[in-house]
Amino acid sequence: MRRLGVGARPALGKRFLLRKVAHWLCHRARTVPQWRTMPSDLRDQFSRPLRDLRISVTDRCNFRCPYCMPKEVFGADHAFLANPQLVSLPELSRIVRAFRNLGVEKVRLTGGEPLLRPDLPDFVRLLKTELGLPDVALTTNGWLLEKHAPALRAAGLDRINVSVDSLDATKAGIMNGLGFSVSRVLRGIDAAAALGLPVKINCVVQRGVNDDELLELCGYFRERGHVLRFIEFMDVGNTNHWTSEQVMPALAIVARIHQQWPIEAVGPAYRGEVASRYRYRDGKGEIGIISSVTEPFCKDCHRARLSADGKIFTCLFAAEGHDLLDQVRGGMGDDALTEYIGNIWRGRGDRYSDERAELLAKKEPRAKVEMSYIGG
Ligand code: SAM
Ligand code: SF4
Ligand code: SF4
Repeated sequence: MRRLGVGARPALGKRFLLRKVAHWLCHRARTVPQWRTMPSDLRDQFSRPLRDLRISVTDRCNFRCPYCMPKEVFGADHAFLANPQLVSLPELSRIVRAFRNLGVEKVRLTGGEPLLRPDLPDFVRLLKTELGLPDVALTTNGWLLEKHAPALRAAGLDRINVSVDSLDATKAGIMNGLGFSVSRVLRGIDAAAALGLPVKINCVVQRGVNDDELLELCGYFRERGHVLRFIEFMDVGNTNHWTSEQVMPALAIVARIHQQWPIEAVGPAYRGEVASRYRYRDGKGEIGIISSVTEPFCKDCHRARLSADGKIFTCLFAAEGHDLLDQVRGGMGDDALTEYIGNIWRGRGDRYSDERAELLAKKEPRAKVEMSYIGG
């Protein structure tokens, strides 16, 4: 069973409802697409449509979270992509237009750390204004957010996810790998919220590292009206020394929070939503749990990823991508590019999280791309 239900639904709190309506109105008011895609009948091998695109705008990051980019691996001698290898704005325009033709309605800009890219507001403006995407979101570690939030908002960004694994200065420093304080990230969140940007918080839960802090995190963010989403620690890439013992299962997360603040399951806002949603029974907002290890959701995975050097990956755990940038730079026309991507999607049979247990039991090492390269 996907949802971890813990009770019956009460009426929504008035404040929560008002905020939801305000966000919806705000979102609608800012979303005036110049053109909409025709519904596409494109389906992969398991009848999944293509709806979302995550774009990694850089493989670089100013943090070294051990669960993502351990500093021993991503050190001074690591070969990051060079500027000429990165997708430029005009190239991105052509590639995303092809994805739009195939039914993509949502784009998330990520990385690496997307705020390291100086032309990020231009990316947002392109997606919103030129390509008319109804939903453009950003995932960031928040370190540079206070400075860049106004330009992103002005460019038309719809919403933002900020990663916060701990509110404790020492522990946050351990979890970002470089001893950076969390207070600057929290100031960035306040700055984005003050501009009217809907903010969600991403928190990777690692047993024995930050699982003792779930309640503090819930308390802090529910007071400020931000949805907090706990993410099970995943075996992404090949370098984070993942073991199943370090995963705090979604069920245990829900149970712990429920003891302090009773919560109950809410249905997904749309098909393919990755987080299972729960609302606080006292009406003070909601949380989400992304349970890709203990409750995989491959059957509803409608997402493709584009790496910073223009390769499409059809699964977070894929070993290889298909080089779209090479096709664009080689002169492929727009219709051919759409067809090319469509064929890749038609052939897609990925369902790594569904198969994880079986694959791990076989103890066969599997090469996977790093999350910082293809985008989380
Ligand atoms: N640098 C940005 C950030 O940290 O928000 C965006 C890129 S990061 C790869 C995207 C998301 O992936 C973050 O919320 C991060 O916490 C999450 N993430 C990274 N490694 C993970 C892992 N091993 N398991 C679960 N989530 C992970
Ligand atoms: Fe950087 Fe984000 Fe990965 Fe942390 S999770 S190392 S902030 S890309
Ligand atoms: Fe999608 Fe791959 Fe994750 Fe399954 S494992 S949900 S197919 S990205």
